[in-house]
Amino acid sequence: MTRHPATRRLCRKCHAELGVDDSRCEACGASNPVPVPWYTPILGLAIVALLFLLLVDFSDVAKVLGFE
Ligand SMILES: [Zn+2]
Repeated sequence: MTRHPATRRLCRKCHAELGVDDSRCEACGASNPVPVPWYTPILGLAIVALLFLLLVDFSDVAKVLGFE
């Protein structure tokens, strides 16, 4: 995981400073979801695509496309 020490997060309820990985404010107990990086959905799609490639039987696909 890449960390960004310069990024400061504040509690959305009491504006106390939060730790980088804190999802709960230590001062007031409010829930502050850790923001997910922009590439998270792309990573998810890549994993799904990889599983698809591993599970699909390519001999059938090759037949359909005329490679066999
Ligand atoms: Zn708070």
